[in-house]
Amino acid sequence: MEKVIVVGAGLSGATIARLLAESGKDVIVVDKRENIGGNIYDYYDKNGILVQAYGPHVFHTNDEEVFEFLSKFTEWNEYKHKVVARVRKDKYVPVPFNLTSLYSLFPLSKALCIEEALKTEVGEGNQIPILELRKSENPLLREFADFVYKYIFYIYTMKQWGCKPEQLGQTIMGRVPVKVSNDDGYFSDKYQVMPQKGFTQLISNILRHPRIKLKLKTDLKKEIALKDGQIYFGGRVLDGTLIYTGCVDELFDYKYGVLPYRSLKFKFQTLKQSSFQPASVVNYTTSASYTRITEFTKFTCKPKDSTVIVKEYAVNHKKGRNIPYYPVTTGRNKVDYDKYEQEAKNYKNLYLLGRLGTYRYLNMDQAVKNAINLFAKIEGEEFDMSTIPALKKKD
Ligand code: FAD
Ligand code: UDP
Repeated sequence: MEKVIVVGAGLSGATIARLLAESGKDVIVVDKRENIGGNIYDYYDKNGILVQAYGPHVFHTNDEEVFEFLSKFTEWNEYKHKVVARVRKDKYVPVPFNLTSLYSLFPLSKALCIEEALKTEVGEGNQIPILELRKSENPLLREFADFVYKYIFYIYTMKQWGCKPEQLGQTIMGRVPVKVSNDDGYFSDKYQVMPQKGFTQLISNILRHPRIKLKLKTDLKKEIALKDGQIYFGGRVLDGTLIYTGCVDELFDYKYGVLPYRSLKFKFQTLKQSSFQPASVVNYTTSASYTRITEFTKFTCKPKDSTVIVKEYAVNHKKGRNIPYYPVTTGRNKVDYDKYEQEAKNYKNLYLLGRLGTYRYLNMDQAVKNAINLFAKIEGEEFDMSTIPALKKKD
């Protein structure tokens, strides 16, 4: 039986492992961490609070197939994510910046004129990326856009990425548009939900299959070598498939240079109070060295005597020293990635997947979708979701 090795027990690795196991393949999933889930790993602390170890994660998607797949492994709680920016002491406004934010920060008469101009230029109920709004021909809207840029985007982005918003471009900045409505949701997808028992339980359910073997605390890079179109595993040519969701530059020993990533530092605190801040996530867009504070009790909606918060600090990634979280896909970096992607094509049994393997800023639903698409590529046919039995209540 042909062997499949999946490197990474995050959402991408778990999804492809399960799909291949369902179609009769024996799959070994390897992760160097001591836990499954990659960056969506969460755990219950001693007070029964579900804490996300690698920062705030909220599931959202418009993709029916992705939602159907994940719903085989978890029940969901509806959760509409709301974020506020702390623009000055005791002044919190919704992000994405919307009409509520506008009226909260501008004198009424000016806010009315800006609203009018936004409705004419962008359209009521529509949204626009900040970098586009700054190019408006209307001086009032340009002034407004400069204000939002300064108070919401500039400092936060400098902290998060170490560069200005315009250096990042539309794909990243467009994730958080300016909205011409009072809609205060962070996302606009059809499904906005949290797994009832957490993301780790979801991944555990995905990986629970007789054909899947899991090996944690194992760095596969130390056991494989890639040379002249052959993958060597444990010193022998691998008779099987390797699916790699780790860093592609590391896989190829940095032969085309180091691909930059942003890393994060998290400072967790348990506080003896039932509530710390006005929303589950507060972005510090004008001050502080951290980018945001997340309060986990606000995800579960069950007030407790204590609460857990995490302050998030963005730092450069240093290989081997911290975790690469965000690929920095600006400038030459994408060109360098393409060389690695091209190199990978020399290995007919190697597939790159996931946020690190494909060097893309993927949301969870896109990670699952890419795994579903990879299955079709490997197997030459679409995966039939109906073959996975429905969730059992005890899961
Ligand atoms: P990862 O989770 O990074 O998994 C890769 C795994 O591979 C890791 O466990 C790693 O240890 C392992 N690995 C790497 N190299 C090796 C090796 N050599 N040997 C063995 N194992 C190896 N998405 C959303 O949809 N909503 C959100 O709210 C959201 N919030 C986010 C917040 C933060 C702070 C971050 C960083 C991301 C967020 N995301 C969010 C994105 C989400 O985390 C990713 O889409 C998802 O985790 C990608 O999963 P993955 O399996 O591709 O990668
Ligand atoms: N951003 C910002 N201010 C905010 C929220 C977001 O400047 O209050 C910018 C920042 O550059 C960030 C990007 O928009 O990296 C995308 O934000 P998102 O919330 O999608 O980032 P993530 O949750 O993935 O870290």
